[in-house]
Amino acid sequence: MLRSILIYLSQANWARQIVTRWSFARKAASRFIAGEELDDALNVVKALNANNINATLDHLGEHTSNPEKALRAADDIIAIIERIHQEGVRSGVSIKLTQIGLDVDKSLCEENLDRILETAHRLSIFVRIDMEDSQWVDKTLQIFSQALEKFGSETIGIVLQSYLYRTKDDLTNLLAAGARIRMCKGAYAEPEEIAFPDKADVDANFDQLVDLMFEGCTRNGTPLISDNGRIPPIPAIASHDEERIIFSKRLVEQRELPKQAVEYQMLHGIRRDLQESLASEGYPVRVYVPYGSEWYPYFTRRLAERPANLWFFISNLFR
Ligand SMILES: Cc1cc2nc3c(=O)[nH]c(=O)nc-3n(C[C@H](O)[C@H](O)[C@H](O)COP(=O)(O)OP(=O)(O)OC[C@H]3O[C@@H](n4cnc5c(N)ncnc54)[C@H](O)[C@@H]3O)c2cc1C
Repeated sequence: MLRSILIYLSQANWARQIVTRWSFARKAASRFIAGEELDDALNVVKALNANNINATLDHLGEHTSNPEKALRAADDIIAIIERIHQEGVRSGVSIKLTQIGLDVDKSLCEENLDRILETAHRLSIFVRIDMEDSQWVDKTLQIFSQALEKFGSETIGIVLQSYLYRTKDDLTNLLAAGARIRMCKGAYAEPEEIAFPDKADVDANFDQLVDLMFEGCTRNGTPLISDNGRIPPIPAIASHDEERIIFSKRLVEQRELPKQAVEYQMLHGIRRDLQESLASEGYPVRVYVPYGSEWYPYFTRRLAERPANLWFFISNLFR
């Protein structure tokens, strides 16, 4: 119930306008956001890299409302890719299709994605398309498949969500195409006609899907993460849930996969202890580093994931 309310608020413009005016909200959000500017985020990436952890940079933004803004968002993403190359950091980028115009005009979004991927391909930097709420899944997968065919799996990857019933079928198709996949549980509120309402089922499906990803990884010749940490392996396990991580590590052993054939992904500001312990065990770890002024929906989804964060949010009011 609380989760649904927070997810609703994350998409409500009136709430965004109120909350982003509160300085204590910005302070609370800074736990999860690497700063307003690309330089702030690059400093975070450099510190992660020094600890043997890779990154994926996200210039926050979604549901861009007009073609000019979508064009500018794509230009900004191209500039990030160029900076990653110039700075030599171990990072890729994560993007949302509604950030670059999917909400405005599908062909504009495709053109913007094309421009981004031309630069990414030329500089060998990996771009991951985040998965948004269920109304976007079909279009996102369709645009991804076209891009995969054109630019290849070392340039572009995708995200799937274990809370959706459809994901097993999507995963099977994507693995057959050799796609590199980030598996997460899913961060939006979805109706029970299309998504598991119970967390236990989402978790059980996550484990099953991770096993399928590992099988697909073997079938695709077990590609390893690139030496410079920029191009991920096929399966990326995006979770802070220790049980899911323990389960997947057991599978890695049973399937005799090299550690470099899988990757663990977590969010900036969450379970840094776990990030560091996995990296010290020799597993590739990648941290999602969001930055920018459009922090409101991202931050509210982080509150929705963990009600205890609400107290953390409110406590900032008194600091
Ligand atoms: C790298 C990465 C990329 C992602 N990309 C997408 C995407 O493209 N689309 C999408 O729908 N979702 C995405 N997500 C979000 C994901 O779907 C989940 O909502 C989120 O990761 C919480 O689920 P969990 O697997 O960590 O497990 P949970 O069972 O929710 O949490 C397990 C434990 O993790 C910690 N934890 C989890 N969330 C928080 C939090 N917000 N604050 C503090 N502690 C927390 C707590 O200790 C908690 O007990 C992404 C997640 C990661 C890590």
